[in-house]
Amino acid sequence: MNDSGSQAEFQIIDRYLSAPELSFEREGVVLGIGDDAAIIDVPQGRQLAMSMDVLIEGVHFPPNADPALVANRALAVNLSDLAAMAAEPLCFTLGLVLPDSDPSWMQKFSAGLAPLARHYNCPLVGGDISSGARSICIQVQGLVEKGAAVRRSGARPGDKVYVSGTLGDAALALAMFGLATHLGDEFVLSDDNPSASCTQFFTEAYYKPQPQIELARVAGDCFTSAIDISDGLHGDLQHILDASDCGATIRLDALPYSASARCCVDDQNRLRAALFGGDDYGLCFTVAADRCAELERLGSELAAPLSCIGDIVEGARINYLDERGDPVRLDAEAFQHFNSQRAN
Ligand code: ADP
Ligand code: MG
Repeated sequence: MNDSGSQAEFQIIDRYLSAPELSFEREGVVLGIGDDAAIIDVPQGRQLAMSMDVLIEGVHFPPNADPALVANRALAVNLSDLAAMAAEPLCFTLGLVLPDSDPSWMQKFSAGLAPLARHYNCPLVGGDISSGARSICIQVQGLVEKGAAVRRSGARPGDKVYVSGTLGDAALALAMFGLATHLGDEFVLSDDNPSASCTQFFTEAYYKPQPQIELARVAGDCFTSAIDISDGLHGDLQHILDASDCGATIRLDALPYSASARCCVDDQNRLRAALFGGDDYGLCFTVAADRCAELERLGSELAAPLSCIGDIVEGARINYLDERGDPVRLDAEAFQHFNSQRAN
């Protein structure tokens, strides 16, 4: 930035980013915002897990979106990646590209980040600001016991496949907002005017995804593999299968749906949203058959909704079964279409 730009940059850092709501003290964070680099202690016997996501205005969030919701979502999707590794959040850095130094946008943005950062004891420790088309880049750091991170590659035939939460709600939010999605023109709600409670439910599902940090902390030891569902169950489970060199059978009647998804959309679009919709940020994970009872006990202690949706088998692909156990042939063209059109 030029001189006045750099003045503005320091003011933004001072007012909105280095405030204690966001860059609070935390064990292991030796030095946060203010020097040329942050300094972090990694305790003996633990490893750092790192993940980054870039969100671009107009691509990953609408231009007129509430800055607080955008902030919340930007941090939540990063924390979700840590959950998928069963890592404990440690701290994060923030790269901001801003078209101007609009104080009201910044104020709302930092206010939207702070509660989630606090909740997961994950302070902001540094970053950078530059001018240009608005985008947000967050890198989170987490801690795992040495060798204990859950990878995509650990699924084995005989394991059960689980998902947390409900599927498809965030994609249905996009349909409700009237935004074009990769699911095509027919991907619409059956009612143009969903009830106030469904509207609120879908909006929150999109902007306030719940990173499954607690579930992974408590039950991660039961997981043989895990991934967070960011691109839809079909594609994300396939990543586990590719990394683990196996296949899966999935029972379509076991897929979990919210009450709002059940009432606002037809069967076909509900299934599309679940399999290809993305942005859900629940976990898909596999569990050895002899640990499922333990997993389900831990899940119910946490009041975490978990659904067993199928099995890992020999093979390479996903076979979908209907409620009678008969194979379901999902339209091959639709598969191609959804898979190739999906933005990252
Ligand atoms: P440098 O020029 O050495 O890269 P900067 O002047 O960009 O440092 O930043 C000064 C301090 O403010 C650094 O500690 C940096 O990490 C922090 N900082 C800059 N931008 C951000 C941001 N978007 N979020 C959090 N901290 C930031
Ligand atoms: Mg800089």
